[in-house]
Amino acid sequence: MKSLLPVINTGLPTNLVQPFAARVAREASPMRRIAVEQLQINLGKLCNQTCTHCHVDAGPTKKRENMDAKTAARVVELSRDCRALRTVDLTGGAPEMNPSFCYLVREFRGRGIRVIDRCNLTILQQPGYEWAAPFLADHGVDVVASLPCYLEQNVDGQRGDGVFRQSIDALRRLNDLGYGDDSSRLRLDLVFNPTGPSLPPDQASLQADYKRELQARYGIRFNQLLTITNIPIKRYAMFLAKNQRLEQYMHLLEENFNSAAAESVMCRSLLSIAWDGAIYDCDFNQMIDLPASSSAVGSHSTKPPTIWNTDSLHQFANRRIATADHCYGCTAGAGSSCSGALL
Ligand code: SF4
Ligand code: SF4
Repeated sequence: MKSLLPVINTGLPTNLVQPFAARVAREASPMRRIAVEQLQINLGKLCNQTCTHCHVDAGPTKKRENMDAKTAARVVELSRDCRALRTVDLTGGAPEMNPSFCYLVREFRGRGIRVIDRCNLTILQQPGYEWAAPFLADHGVDVVASLPCYLEQNVDGQRGDGVFRQSIDALRRLNDLGYGDDSSRLRLDLVFNPTGPSLPPDQASLQADYKRELQARYGIRFNQLLTITNIPIKRYAMFLAKNQRLEQYMHLLEENFNSAAAESVMCRSLLSIAWDGAIYDCDFNQMIDLPASSSAVGSHSTKPPTIWNTDSLHQFANRRIATADHCYGCTAGAGSSCSGALL
């Protein structure tokens, strides 16, 4: 068993597999961003839950690590020259808990940009957040909601006691507001991630199971199921390490490397902004503080890029993407992204 010290220090499971960069160099095209079509904005680590697989280490006590109004306004300003921008993905923590959430939704929806709320569902049922579901519907925000299983025991095991029941109530509420019907403009997608250290099953087959079971058991409708591989960083890497399964999981990801998935990874068209304005190639890199290339700041700069030392997000197109071994999580099997399977 190799030392788990690197995991504990950095969140990165280093030296457990052959380097991801070398594998991509042999079997796929260089890891470069083609365009900034999607902006993922992480509003912070504040969340009403503390799930075991959480790569953000979010929770109810993380009040300090939250995007302030000045930072939110700067992100909006910088996004204006991003000609390819089609989608803004608001994530967290629970993004609805950030005071700038409604401002960001109004700004981007006002420009006709698709906005996704990456919602944990239970927040919609919390006292003080009764406004959230109708607000999302009124502004045409698409909801991507976590529901790792249609069985209560599995959901509560991963996300906490009582989470499943609250999630079902929140889904019913969203359905009542018009979410989840094929004919509706209000899109409701569900997210599945494995409860154990395995790859997700086939997305289309699992979606059929979810649709059948959620309709039959609870009368719930949704549009699409997105299967997402758990990325071995932070709380999830620690969880695996503690159970002596991290090395096994890394080998599973490596053995299932798929060069076609590597060509479609989300960082090739997405940019990620942290709660403090730092710029990353994706939300996962953000969580392990692996910054985007500083070449977008200026040819001689070695400082990591932030929204404060950058005058355009557009210039992050055609830039090299920073990778490490956790990237095997995006390229295994059918591939994985925040929009589900890649292939
Ligand atoms: S996985 Fe989502 S809902 Fe769970 S603690 Fe992390 S941010 Fe919160
Ligand atoms: S973790 Fe995935 S999305 Fe992020 S840089 Fe690696 S391959 Fe790209």
